[in-house]
Amino acid sequence: MNASPEQLAILDSTIRDVPDFPKPGIVFKDITTLISNRLAFKTAIDLFVEQLAGKEIDFIACPEARGFVWAAPLAYRLDAGVTLIRKPGKLPSATLEHTFDLEYGSDTLTIHADAFADKISPNVLIVDDVLATGGTAAATTELVTAAGGNVTAYAMLIELDFLNGRSCLLDVPIISLLHY
Ligand code: AMP
Repeated sequence: MNASPEQLAILDSTIRDVPDFPKPGIVFKDITTLISNRLAFKTAIDLFVEQLAGKEIDFIACPEARGFVWAAPLAYRLDAGVTLIRKPGKLPSATLEHTFDLEYGSDTLTIHADAFADKISPNVLIVDDVLATGGTAAATTELVTAAGGNVTAYAMLIELDFLNGRSCLLDVPIISLLHY
């Protein structure tokens, strides 16, 4: 089921645009104002659940830190596990790493090597707050795949269409609740 105009308005109106953060020229989509609004947060989770209905999802992989906010309630509702994707040095057991290019410099993300050890080729949903250039979601895809997971969908609260981040992702459903 598609989101109603009223539901999308609740989400849109509770996201705060912060100009020039974290650097000049970037308009930061601040979701702290959405998740602190109980109606908006509930609406977003309910919409994700509706749009993911019928998909077999074993794990939800989420890059730190805002991905965690979405993964936990979705995992509960979709009867899935949560897989944390973190910066180096944060996960306590043996990890796999993936380094990727940013506009300036590079970044590295990690996953526990045994993240999916109890399941062969599990179906994994990747979730985050914003799909911008797609670098983070693409790196998460690499890590999930390297750990033996099968990325079957992406769920993003916000997609910045002008950056075409989806061109970096696998040819599977990409659910974005809001497009800017
Ligand atoms: P990406 O360029 O798709 O790799 O985005 C990098 C990470 O930074 C993602 O986890 C996004 O949540 C976050 N991000 C990128 N651009 C924005 C933005 N304009 N507002 C808020 N978060 C952003």
